[in-house]
Amino acid sequence: MIRKPIFAANWKMNKGASETEDFVRSFLSKIQGQSFPCEIVIAPPFVSLPKLADLLHGAVQNASAIQIGAQNCSQFDAGAYTGEVNVLMLREFFVHFVIIGHSERRAIFGETDAIINAKLKKAREANLKPIFCIGETLAQREGGMLESVLRTQVTEGLQGLTEKDMAEIVIAYEPVWAIGTGVTATSQQAQDAHAFVRSLVAGLYGTDTAERIRIQYGGSVKPGNAAELMACPDIDGALIGGASLEPHGFLEIIRNGTVPLVE
Ligand code: PEP
Repeated sequence: MIRKPIFAANWKMNKGASETEDFVRSFLSKIQGQSFPCEIVIAPPFVSLPKLADLLHGAVQNASAIQIGAQNCSQFDAGAYTGEVNVLMLREFFVHFVIIGHSERRAIFGETDAIINAKLKKAREANLKPIFCIGETLAQREGGMLESVLRTQVTEGLQGLTEKDMAEIVIAYEPVWAIGTGVTATSQQAQDAHAFVRSLVAGLYGTDTAERIRIQYGGSVKPGNAAELMACPDIDGALIGGASLEPHGFLEIIRNGTVPLVE
């Protein structure tokens, strides 16, 4: 089964419209004339989506190389939800992907598996492709709870989603202890977790769906560790925070992660 790797930049609360424009112009000029055997997604803050949409659907050359992602969406439709952004608003800016259940949303904003499940369903109703984040804390890993944490996040997060939905969902395995810390999971730790997540999907949806679903790794991915991580059989791309903020670094991760690793 060939799964097309997907590299997604999660800019978190960084880069307003003008910095977004600088990044995109620089990134596109660097990839001029090249194509990569992967999908590339940029997820800026909400307020930068109109600029990104203008650039990518406007005059800039090479623009189709990048797809637009959002970092969150509301589980509600419309109405009295101050500060929230719904899925149809995202669609207006050509958003195709939406990150759901990031560990920062879980830990800082109190998102539970039930909320994440509602957001995944809402995203699918609008035909958005969720990047569904899961991962354990260091205490959970050290306490021998890795598998039970992932099992709960996967089963509760995906409750009620269909096989058809699963064809449009990307899972991002992001060990919380590796996010923004500079500590990366070893390729063996990452591969083991990814294989386990794939086995969970197989248990819920069957082996065909499990073989097709893309599982990204996230957690301090950098140009220097991308090749080794991406060479693992169950790792299908990366969700990248800090190292995606600079065009050269993001591109090097994509390059290194899509070129076969030579020993
Ligand atoms: C993330 O925020 O999803 C992430 C993986 O961040 P970083 O690459 O900075 O660890």
